[in-house]
Amino acid sequence: MFSTQCNTKQNSKPSVKAQILGALGSITKCHVSVENSRLKRFDLLKHSQNILKNHRVCNCLKKRIDKNSDIGVFYNPLRSTAQFSNLQRCGSLWACPVCANQISQKRKQEVGQAVNAHRKNGGDVVMLTLTTPHQYHDVLDELLLQQSSARKRFWETTAVQNILKSWGSVGHITSLEITHGSNGWHPHYHILLFIRSGVDFSKQKAKLYQYWAAACVRSGLGKPNEKNGLDLRDGSHADKYITKWGLADEMTRSVVKVGKTKSHTPFDLLALAGDGCDKSKYLFMLYVAATRGKRQLMWSRGLKKRFGIDDLTDESIVNETEKVAEEVATLPPLVYYLLVRENKRPHYLTAIEFDVINHTNTAGALVNQLLQAEYDYIIAKKDGDKLTKSAMKANLAQKAADLRDEQIYKGLWS
Ligand SMILES: [Zn+2]
Repeated sequence: MFSTQCNTKQNSKPSVKAQILGALGSITKCHVSVENSRLKRFDLLKHSQNILKNHRVCNCLKKRIDKNSDIGVFYNPLRSTAQFSNLQRCGSLWACPVCANQISQKRKQEVGQAVNAHRKNGGDVVMLTLTTPHQYHDVLDELLLQQSSARKRFWETTAVQNILKSWGSVGHITSLEITHGSNGWHPHYHILLFIRSGVDFSKQKAKLYQYWAAACVRSGLGKPNEKNGLDLRDGSHADKYITKWGLADEMTRSVVKVGKTKSHTPFDLLALAGDGCDKSKYLFMLYVAATRGKRQLMWSRGLKKRFGIDDLTDESIVNETEKVAEEVATLPPLVYYLLVRENKRPHYLTAIEFDVINHTNTAGALVNQLLQAEYDYIIAKKDGDKLTKSAMKANLAQKAADLRDEQIYKGLWS
């Protein structure tokens, strides 16, 4: 465990920007109450963009797609959620908390659809968990390669195929989950087996473990112990599981759920890195590099087709909402820039969602607050207030004044 040893950076002196924001109470006293998870996602995105230089996450929700158009704000009535448009999205499940959330929600829906359809047809879905021994100094990308090879060997074992056949298996969905704890990296698989109902699979558990252990050893991994190496949960347990967390939740929210006491999810590491922990930062970078191009959720051949589920890429999912959503607002680049700079994007989106339902204009009020603060700053600067040029982006301030004179903000000012 290293979390308690992490040294959070302490700024002895508040930045000029912080001083100004401190003085501008109207900005920080925003009345919009934002769901914590959305705040956290945007916060983590910022950390990820600071850490991962030259990764596509750096442009996510920052750069416009069409530089001649404003930023759009879309509302999806089916999900009651708002999102920005005309901004590049990275679609990275591993590196981007905002895209990961959107992708996970869709994947969860797909898994849930398949599980429900299978059960409706009289089938059963059970959960198989496969883990391998791991040491503190293991290298993550090597572990992932070896585990992937062991998993392939396991499925290709004739005896395993025969067992699954006898269970009436029609396919499986594999989820790769990665955590980091006192024994280093711990990548493991949760696998949903779609089988016929009424199977007494407990008799085969010991045999399956033997085949898994053999596959691990042949792939260069150590022999997993019998207690933790392979776990099979029956239908009744799976039912409880679904009721409590949602089976799909456990499968698809692995990258956003909070880690257990003794281990961290990658986004836990990212949060610690944001607090100034260099070790967590390094681990997060290693994790992103090791997972590059890897899939988190893998459906066996033909299973999606069986349940009528389209084969969507992660990239298409992050842009999907726009197709069914309606545009409810547009933002000039400068206003969007202010939302980014002041970390108010989550507040703004939540305000839009509130406004659509309640026919209010809290989002407009929030923008007004930001613009007013920026305007006040410009005036203060013109009055000779001694603020450093670099800290407050003097160019931007001048641009803001010019734009305002041109009435680009018309309709946004109260
Ligand atoms: Zn992204």
